[in-house]
Amino acid sequence: MTGAAPRATSLRGTDVLIIGGGMIGCALADRLALDGASVRVCERGGVASGTTAHGEGNVLVSDKGPGPELALAQLSRRLWLAVLERLSSGATVEWEPKGGIVVATTDAGATALTAFADGQRGAGVRCEHLDADQLAAAEPALTRDVCAAVYYPEDAQVQPAGAATALLESAIAAGAVVETSCAVTGPLIRGGRLIGVQTTRGQRHADVVINAAGPWSGAVSDLLGAPIAIKPRRGDVLITAPMPPTVFHKVYDADYVGAVGSSDAALQSSAVVESTRGGPLLLGSSRRQCGFDDRIRPDSLAAIARKALRLYPILADVAIMRAYGGFRPYVDDHLPVIGPDPRLPGLWHATGHEGAGIGLSVGTAQLISSALTGHPAEVDIAPFAVDRPAVLTSPEPTPQKASQ
Ligand SMILES: Cc1cc2nc3c(=O)[nH]c(=O)nc-3n(C[C@H](O)[C@H](O)[C@H](O)COP(=O)(O)OP(=O)(O)OC[C@H]3O[C@@H](n4cnc5c(N)ncnc54)[C@H](O)[C@@H]3O)c2cc1C
Repeated sequence: MTGAAPRATSLRGTDVLIIGGGMIGCALADRLALDGASVRVCERGGVASGTTAHGEGNVLVSDKGPGPELALAQLSRRLWLAVLERLSSGATVEWEPKGGIVVATTDAGATALTAFADGQRGAGVRCEHLDADQLAAAEPALTRDVCAAVYYPEDAQVQPAGAATALLESAIAAGAVVETSCAVTGPLIRGGRLIGVQTTRGQRHADVVINAAGPWSGAVSDLLGAPIAIKPRRGDVLITAPMPPTVFHKVYDADYVGAVGSSDAALQSSAVVESTRGGPLLLGSSRRQCGFDDRIRPDSLAAIARKALRLYPILADVAIMRAYGGFRPYVDDHLPVIGPDPRLPGLWHATGHEGAGIGLSVGTAQLISSALTGHPAEVDIAPFAVDRPAVLTSPEPTPQKASQ
């Protein structure tokens, strides 16, 4: 593994600096501090102030076809249970193992959904077809105009900012240091190796620096002299007024999988409807590549509302309380970037999780820990390697002048 830090069976004595205190940075801090590393998190704003506070918290296997991302999702789903049990001695993390239901509203969609589910079953995903009666029993308010429905019992939901904070508290209890209002501004390089970073609070040295800056990972990698192509992909969510229990699972239209997998920069939308413990429903979802333009656009809200109404006609009489949006960290080949940067020893990346970073966070942290310690990983890290055509914007190393 070119560019990796020296391998060790434990991380004791290894200084790790994590850039970004979002869900990925917090999960990394927790895992690596428990593994014995001396962890420091540098976050330019507050904890979980980036995309982690602007999305939803679905922990899904239902939307992933067989392949490396599904394998990481399955690992993460298993790990979440152990992580939650460990965290429950401290903070209470809102976790709902409510299951997902994917519906197709056209014959073509039904054929595609059935084939997709068959493929997933072959990869170990638990899923079962629901007939019309079963679907009506599971989701009484859902339209009856459905051609096929598949139930995924493993789909769950976690409250992202709460989970990130709890992970960070666990890391702090294991010795991690967290610096908020601390922006990373440049590299510290000696002998061609990254030995730390410049920050707005001064120099910070480390054996391993992990870029976990979410949709800003591209900008951070530019600052460090090893650019990677992470782009923001905007998403908006509508929130209804609190409702009596109406939606009991995460319910979405099968065309959501196509919208996620699309590389089209223009607005993509599909119906995703889910309840929250407090009563409001979250209605999504949209995807658009528009840089960091954070305006909430009417066309996006209209598309989300129209499609949600199609699934749940009852929503026509419900008040919308507010809308919000965020920027998913997007890579053109739709896979996260996890591992060492072969161009700059000492630099690692854990980013690019797009619309699944909450769910995939704990598995990502375990992959990084395994790679750093040399312990065998349950999931192959290779497909997430940094030196992929979709990730490297500059094929050659970008040498930096010694700044130390
Ligand atoms: C509308 C929407 C819905 C979503 N729904 C889901 C879902 O249901 N399930 C799911 O799994 N995922 C979902 N996601 C995606 C998920 O939110 C992201 O994948 C995840 O939050 C990414 O976490 P992160 O830690 O990589 O990034 P972030 O949370 O953005 O954290 C990165 C941090 O880096 C910091 N930073 C940036 N630059 C610097 C710097 N120079 N120095 C120091 N710090 C810096 C930022 O301030 C930020 O806090 C959704 C996203 C959106 C927008």
